[in-house]
Amino acid sequence: MSPATGAHPDLVVRSAQVALGDGVRPAAVVVHGGKIESVLEYAATVRAASDVDLGDVALLPGLVDSHVHVNEPGRTEWEGFASATAAALAGGITTICDMPLNSVPVTTSVDALTAKAEAARGQCAVDVAFWGGAVPGNAGHLRPLLDAGVIGFKCFLIDSGIPEFPPLDRDGLRSAMRELSETGAPMIVHAEDPREVMQPSGPGYDAFVASRPPVAERRAIETVVSAAAATGARAHIVHLAAGECAALISAAQASGIDLTAETCPHYLFFAAEEVPAGHTEFKCCPPVRYAPNREALWRALEAGVIGGVVSDHSPCTVEEKRLAEGDFRTAWGGIASLQVALPAVWSVARKRGRTLADIARWMSAFPASLAGLSDSKGGIFPGADADLVAFDATAAFEVRAADLRHKNPVSPYDGRTLAGVVRRTWLRGTEVTPDGPRHGRLLRRGGTELDA
Ligand SMILES: [Zn+2]
Repeated sequence: MSPATGAHPDLVVRSAQVALGDGVRPAAVVVHGGKIESVLEYAATVRAASDVDLGDVALLPGLVDSHVHVNEPGRTEWEGFASATAAALAGGITTICDMPLNSVPVTTSVDALTAKAEAARGQCAVDVAFWGGAVPGNAGHLRPLLDAGVIGFKCFLIDSGIPEFPPLDRDGLRSAMRELSETGAPMIVHAEDPREVMQPSGPGYDAFVASRPPVAERRAIETVVSAAAATGARAHIVHLAAGECAALISAAQASGIDLTAETCPHYLFFAAEEVPAGHTEFKCCPPVRYAPNREALWRALEAGVIGGVVSDHSPCTVEEKRLAEGDFRTAWGGIASLQVALPAVWSVARKRGRTLADIARWMSAFPASLAGLSDSKGGIFPGADADLVAFDATAAFEVRAADLRHKNPVSPYDGRTLAGVVRRTWLRGTEVTPDGPRHGRLLRRGGTELDA
């Protein structure tokens, strides 16, 4: 019997491999009213309306992807809430956090947030939260945006590629972070220093990588560390690509500065040596670097210096990607990977002896915490939303870009075989499918509904 209402639970999901906060073990997850009520022994007697035994198929907490460019309204031909959330659901992600740029308008004012929420409403297959944007001159909009429901703020220290989302300079970063210092909301930063970035010397991939060297990330992170130290605000480095910066981040963390970092599946999966000539679907900023750097990123992730892995799903049209020309100077930078983020990371992680508990920590708990959603998302624990993913960790599949639910069929993973297949998904206790009814809600920091 459920202590909450006196009625029987709605659902129990059993698995021999449940990814819990303290490891992977057999368990039964009891769900009532959309929430996880308890976590019991695998064979526990529970009188639930529905009893699902997954056997050896693993059960993960629904992943939280805190770095997604949905691009709607305004560039809906690049992606959109309907396609992005269906792709997320197909990939085991039950909450996405939308970036403030590449949409029109960019989310730098309350009106723009309202426009975005209106565009999203009714279309979402998974839960969606929104980042606000910090740009020159909008420091006065930050507190109102937080009150209106954004989960924190994104800024750039270098050209974003979008004229209406210009970068902050050192002083602008500090004023914006000062606005946030009392709020607990993070400033998440695209950290490349424009003084260390140059024009590529040619159209190829090596020239592109050389034009955006690790030192550009290092100098920008130093700027962020100083701003965090000066203001006391929480800072976060998005898409860390230069493994050598782990030492700098670790030192800042050790000295008590409120700094975290994420990396992305493509930096952990690919290496520059393997990028075929002219394949601009591999272009993103900062770039995928060479194999020793990939190893350094893995070690920083395993050591906990990098806290999590999120997709930085940043699609565009086939045309914008300039696949025919194969010129890395002119192609749009961004890798679409919402649907394959989990298997891409798992494919490498399992060979390194990591477990699904690591995956749950990196791809669910950490991003949920960053987004201020930890009370209801990010793990399988009593009181959490019953966002659950049945993950067949030993199965494999070949990625076909054209078959992904992303709006545009462009993927550097095309043709790759990845480990791990999402079999079933529950969102707040309701089993959901990418083609089914849209049960996603719009969330504010703290996890309550944006409307409420
Ligand atoms: Zn991004």
